[in-house]
Amino acid sequence: MAKTFDLKDDSVVVVVGSGAGGGTLSYELVQRGINVVCLEAGPRLGLTDIVNDNGTMFNRLSWLDKRVGTGDLNATLPLWVCKTVGGTTVHWAGASLRLQEHEFRVRTAYGNMPGANLLDWPTTLQELEPFYARAEDKLGVTGTSDIPRLPGNNNFKVMAAGAKRLGYTQVHTGNMAINSQPRDGRPACHQIGFCMSGCAIGAKWSTLYTEIPKAESTGRFEIRPDSMVVKINHDNSGKVTGVVYADKTGTLQEQKARVVCVAGNSVETPRLLLNSQSSKFPNGLANSSGQVGRNYMRHMTGTVYAIMSGRVNFDRGTQMAGIIKDESRHDPSRGFAGGYEMETLPGFGLSGVASNTVAGAWGLEYAKMIEMYDHFAGMWLVGEDLPQGAMASLCIPPKRTSTGCRYRWCTSKIMPTTSPCATMPTRPERRSTNRSAPRRCSSCRHSPALTIWAPAARARRRKMASATSTARPTMSPICSSRTAASSRPAGPRTRR
Ligand SMILES: Cc1cc2nc3c(=O)[nH]c(=O)nc-3n(C[C@H](O)[C@H](O)[C@H](O)COP(=O)(O)OP(=O)(O)OC[C@H]3O[C@@H](n4cnc5c(N)ncnc54)[C@H](O)[C@@H]3O)c2cc1C
Ligand code: SF4
Repeated sequence: MAKTFDLKDDSVVVVVGSGAGGGTLSYELVQRGINVVCLEAGPRLGLTDIVNDNGTMFNRLSWLDKRVGTGDLNATLPLWVCKTVGGTTVHWAGASLRLQEHEFRVRTAYGNMPGANLLDWPTTLQELEPFYARAEDKLGVTGTSDIPRLPGNNNFKVMAAGAKRLGYTQVHTGNMAINSQPRDGRPACHQIGFCMSGCAIGAKWSTLYTEIPKAESTGRFEIRPDSMVVKINHDNSGKVTGVVYADKTGTLQEQKARVVCVAGNSVETPRLLLNSQSSKFPNGLANSSGQVGRNYMRHMTGTVYAIMSGRVNFDRGTQMAGIIKDESRHDPSRGFAGGYEMETLPGFGLSGVASNTVAGAWGLEYAKMIEMYDHFAGMWLVGEDLPQGAMASLCIPPKRTSTGCRYRWCTSKIMPTTSPCATMPTRPERRSTNRSAPRRCSSCRHSPALTIWAPAARARRRKMASATSTARPTMSPICSSRTAASSRPAGPRTRR
């Protein structure tokens, strides 16, 4: 039974954010008899609000509030996180990987790397293994314990066939927090293919329909949607006393608390801590190190789409349908630190492919290529930026926000200065039929390092079509952005 707590009830623990961190923590706390109020900036949707449409759901789920950035930050590109009950777990792909042993001691393993702010974790993989196992069981991660892996869609079959031909051995459909069989009161995946728009049947794990309703059923938990926390208050001794938040109408409220847990994702968490500065904590809360808001890490990312000789229908089936793990090791003999993985990548709908495959492309040639949509296969290379201390700021001047409230809205964020995003020269997008013109890949906003244009792809397609009518892993890459792994050190391969 869901509960409502009084604003003045200072016995509660306040959790800010209801995503992977906040939703999970809330349920863990209430199971130990602790009363929890979870304040969530976004609205609460139900499964019936989830529709199989990428664009609609992007707008419905994403954190689209205006940001202003400095330096290399592309302020107009929304940070791809969610503002909704369930947070980014509504939208995530579900890949659930463990860190590797070397990723716990990057400073030792990678050495002193100029510009990188590396430290070893004060814990080891062995110490965390029991907790990983508990989390995997809770999320129902495929390929762990006795949970069978997902079947793999055609896109995976294309990638796997190519990978095996190249000698890769660690190729499978991944460790996914997606039910391969009915589990935990949720159905098995139907392989329809809109995981990152929210899973309409709840086969993919999300706190929206797992931890949060379970926490509510204890009678010790209140989820308060449309409640944007703007400040954490403390007393003269420095102990927190509660939070100030803007409710749905924009009215500022104060919720008293004995403990405040902040789980607002990588930008909103530091923003809230920094915005909670006071005469006692002039640099913001929990910031005695001066590191809050620094060391922001993104992915290194490379995308390849190919047109196969037969139909692939790569938008069908789980969106992250398979993985090649062989390159994820740390092997300094390769000339860079850390490793990377290759995963399948869908097209995010016909319009997504049309607008992203070759940014700015136009005309009959391009239209003919996009008409081969059902023959497309896609894959993605993913590694991690190393943490860096340089800072760029995200700041929105005080004014009325979308929630209608007026409060100081300013924070800091680190933008790596040597990442491919930061250093790679970008070229203006052009609408042209000139296929030799260098263009920018808008899916990642990088200049493609390697681009083989449509005519080459078409020629190969004709050749392949005459050879066979089934999809084979001989790809014609039509857009490939440079991977950081080949040009600079890649760091720990934690996720998105
Ligand atoms: C498209 C996509 C695919 C992904 N796929 C994977 C994957 O396959 N595997 C993987 O491991 N990771 C993946 N991720 C990343 C993963 O989803 C996030 O790392 C994870 O959800 C972060 O958890 P979190 O609790 O920190 O934040 P979130 O899950 O984002 O939750 C934060 C919540 O806090 C709320 N909030 C923020 N500030 C405030 C405030 N001031 N007041 C009130 N509420 C606030 C937000 O609205 C949000 O609901 C993916 C991410 C995206 C965008
Ligand atoms: S493919 Fe499976 S996990 Fe993805 S949205 Fe469909 S049912 Fe959900």
